[in-house]
Amino acid sequence: MNLSLRSFLPPLDLGWNHVRAICAMPSCHNKLLMRAVPGARTGIYVGEAWYCSPDCFAMESRQRLASLCTRTVVEMPRNPRLPLGLALLAKDTISEGQLRFAVALSEHRGVNLETTLLNEGIVSEKQLAAARGAQWGCPVLGPEPAGQIVEADLPPTLLRAFSAAPLHYSAKAKRLVLGFVHRVEHTLLQSIEQMTGCRAEPCFITPSEFKVQMDRLATVDGYTEIVDNDPGTVPQMARTLGGFAAEYTAREARFTRCKSWIWARIVGKRETLDILIPLKSAAASTKREFSTAVPEVTQALG
Ligand SMILES: [Zn+2]
Repeated sequence: MNLSLRSFLPPLDLGWNHVRAICAMPSCHNKLLMRAVPGARTGIYVGEAWYCSPDCFAMESRQRLASLCTRTVVEMPRNPRLPLGLALLAKDTISEGQLRFAVALSEHRGVNLETTLLNEGIVSEKQLAAARGAQWGCPVLGPEPAGQIVEADLPPTLLRAFSAAPLHYSAKAKRLVLGFVHRVEHTLLQSIEQMTGCRAEPCFITPSEFKVQMDRLATVDGYTEIVDNDPGTVPQMARTLGGFAAEYTAREARFTRCKSWIWARIVGKRETLDILIPLKSAAASTKREFSTAVPEVTQALG
């Protein structure tokens, strides 16, 4: 009989140990050590890749950050099915005469149609939100005010940047309802799904409801957001992430790009940290980094 030893071992456990034991940092020296030491540091997962230490994690974050910085975001232009004026007409909120008047006034003043409609008292915020819902084929928050305190481990800076407020959040059910004021930002929905594993559904709310809801937004215990407005060069960003990974005893890290933001999440033993890097700051740093190289390049080109 030719039974291999392997067949006596639980296959799942073997697979897990195997993954755990190999640090994804190519030049890491800890590969064999980790396999031999039970109960050694748990390491950090980034997707399928596993890193034995914050140092290896930081080294490998350089590439991820660099590609997020330079990635040209190709977004399918998702625009509403209907122009706002037509949506208001279809809902009988305004008459054709009112629409013509508002369009002419908007052009004359150089402001957008919705501003004119609101300022002239032709429509209410609620009617405008209903028309946006019709435009995008999304529900609108009901007549009763939101008023619920929503606890969420989502970065408030990003929510404010996209005028989106969480109206309902259930980590258990993995479901989130996000109320948008101006337009449905699909990039934000996708980023949130990627980072939290929650299904994010859009709806429309008024600017007043947005304000109320953001005031009532509470962060989950052990959740922190940091906005890094001076991220420095990519290697410096990676070092910063490595520092946080060590500080928070990171188990897992996730990265995404949401329009002009890099969003990195560090999931620690007890706490979760979101680091937001506005790409304008990152671009300025990258430019500084490149500018030193430019003279050599131009010289080389003659
Ligand atoms: Zn390593």
